[in-house]
Amino acid sequence: SKNKGRNRYEFFSYEIEERATQRRLLIEEIRVALDKKQFELFYQPIFSIDGLSVPKAEALIRWNHPKRGLIGPNEFIPVAEKNGLIGDIGHWVKSQAIKDTVDFNKLSKDAVQVSVNTSPLEIDRAGQWVDDWITASKESQLPNNTILIEVTENTLMDPDSSIQRQLKRLSAINIDIAIDDFGVGYSSLAYLQRLDIDILKIDRSFIQDIESNDNSIALVKAIITMAHNLDVMVVAEGVETSRQYELLKHLSCDYIQGYIFSKAITKKEFIKKYITKNIG
Ligand code: C2E
Ligand code: CA
Ligand code: CA
Ligand code: CA
Repeated sequence: SKNKGRNRYEFFSYEIEERATQRRLLIEEIRVALDKKQFELFYQPIFSIDGLSVPKAEALIRWNHPKRGLIGPNEFIPVAEKNGLIGDIGHWVKSQAIKDTVDFNKLSKDAVQVSVNTSPLEIDRAGQWVDDWITASKESQLPNNTILIEVTENTLMDPDSSIQRQLKRLSAINIDIAIDDFGVGYSSLAYLQRLDIDILKIDRSFIQDIESNDNSIALVKAIITMAHNLDVMVVAEGVETSRQYELLKHLSCDYIQGYIFSKAITKKEFIKKYITKNIG
């Protein structure tokens, strides 16, 4: 009936309004979180293929929400990207990650490289983002090649190459570059060569498939061979089973990241468990 239709319309418009209100609230809360230091970087160890050492770790942001507890990035990074707050979050991530990298490397006998995620929306064409990285890393006297900046494939799809030139400035000061989620976008293999990429991270969706799908094995094998031919090392992301691990070992993958070894943990736990102490 007519009446019923109107009710439904009101229900939907109420829902849309409700969602918009929720989003505004979240944006406000993110501002507060930055101000009150509610964000924290967790670290997920990245193992050498033999499983015996941890030469790298990925910094993954978490939000210690006063009411809701620990919140993962998928709940707030996309919102922050839509509202310009990603710049402020990126700033905080950069300085915290640099601080932590300096601490890890002071304590550690072996070099520890920290991987930092970057949203394509953080990188401006004017070059401020890269200037900030250069300034911050010089000030901290970070050891060479102890930071790895992770960019997604679509970051590289820049028609006038200004982003690519900026990434090259990072390479020039011994910051390494990784392509994150490799395989899900439309990467041109030419980028690997042109951009002085150091690391390729094969997306979890491919790793999940290798146990059951021969085509996925062939694909992962081709990616690894090609990367090695270009002097690029390969991290397999989201490795969860020993079967996946064995296959990747067989395919000469270089590094393993995934729940099979560890999820992301606090900085304190990471130091306790994985930093080989500089004693004696
Ligand atoms: P990502 O960069 O692809 O990070 C890997 C994600 O996979 C992490 O989720 C990690 O906890 C999860 N993961 C690792 N191993 C496994 C596994 O074996 N199985 C499964 N199922 N998952 C695994 P997380 O921490 O929730 O991060 C989600 C995404 O949020 C990241 O995906 C990244 O795109 C973004 N992100 C995280 N930290 C930052 C940050 O500081 N800045 C920016 N811009 N984005 C960030
Ligand atoms: Ca990443
Ligand atoms: Ca390099
Ligand atoms: Ca990834």
